[in-house]
Amino acid sequence: MITEKPVCLTGASGFIAAHILRELLVNGYRVRGTVRKKPENYPYLLSLPGAAERLELVNADLLLEGSFDKAVEGCEYVIHTASPFEINVGDPQTDLVDPAVNGTETLMDSCRKARSVRRVVLTSSIAAITDEPESSKVFTEEDWNTMSSLDRNPYYYSKTLAEHAAWDFIMRTKPGFDLVVINPFLVLGPSLGPSISTSCETIRDLMVGVYPAIMDLNWGIVDVRDVAKAHLAAMENKEASGRYLCSGDSMHMRELIGLLRSSGYEKGYALPKPDLSGTLGSVIIKGLSFTQPKNIGKYLRTHVGRTMRFDNAKIRRELGISFIPAKTSVIDTVEDMLKWGHLKPAKI
Ligand code: NDP
Repeated sequence: MITEKPVCLTGASGFIAAHILRELLVNGYRVRGTVRKKPENYPYLLSLPGAAERLELVNADLLLEGSFDKAVEGCEYVIHTASPFEINVGDPQTDLVDPAVNGTETLMDSCRKARSVRRVVLTSSIAAITDEPESSKVFTEEDWNTMSSLDRNPYYYSKTLAEHAAWDFIMRTKPGFDLVVINPFLVLGPSLGPSISTSCETIRDLMVGVYPAIMDLNWGIVDVRDVAKAHLAAMENKEASGRYLCSGDSMHMRELIGLLRSSGYEKGYALPKPDLSGTLGSVIIKGLSFTQPKNIGKYLRTHVGRTMRFDNAKIRRELGISFIPAKTSVIDTVEDMLKWGHLKPAKI
């Protein structure tokens, strides 16, 4: 049932959050979105259908204690997406862990103080499930990433600690609200705003020569439009509980390159040609990974040569989510990057 009370959406400017915002507005909700700059910096949010009547943008920062107090006041539902999403950072503690963890704790505490909040939906990540595929294992919501650290895949570490902090807060303080968590894999699809998301950069990197060869890497892919629907379903469905692994099909790098080639993005782009996705190739890539920036090197060493398998039955069964095919999301991502100028049209 749609409530007159606003839904608080943190990090409203983000790639995923903008789609959640659109979905909330389309479904008739009032929304209080938190951002870091003045509202006029977000014309792509303010011009969404329904925004003029039902969107309010307020300032809040993950690093400032109590910053979300006003934003969550009077809200029944809070969707917490704000968290730094970067792979290559200078200082993982201050750039990733502090805002992710302290921000989650301060947001949860604002919700506790507000007393009106009935549910928090948290955008966690596959990163909190695992930071390395295990070819013989199918990952589910039962799994927790126990391997990451400030030194090893620190973005994954920040997401794991932040999700733990949210569950610990619930256990410790027993507030008047519950917590439902969405754990998406690689989120692709069109962007509502002008920035390129770190996840869509993965596809751009494949096209502009960042990868010197085809490697034995694979990604679970989920469309940003489905991720938005999953957040709404998690918010609205009274029976929703716990974590929800949120991903459609997974694709191997070889398949991705093949798709881009067959879709006409070969000439004028720098798709990798040498195929190092066999066993020997993986040994070579792992050796070469030591020449890469630290976090990229670590990522390659923990991912190359492993197949990621996961079970998305819970989100399909309990939240009724069906997934846009990965191939559609990949092509829509490319077209969208061309539209925004993140990818230059091929010069043939
Ligand atoms: P974006 O970078 O587009 O969004 C991140 C959001 O967090 C932005 O709104 C950003 O605000 C905000 N933010 C960052 N630092 C702070 C801070 N100190 N105070 C307040 N707000 C802050 O990324 P996505 O939309 O892709 O990610 C959204 C969420 O989804 C994140 O929690 C991410 O970890 C998670 N996720 C993303 C996946 C993906 O593949 N994209 C996969 C799984 C999880 P500003 O615009 O001001 O920088």
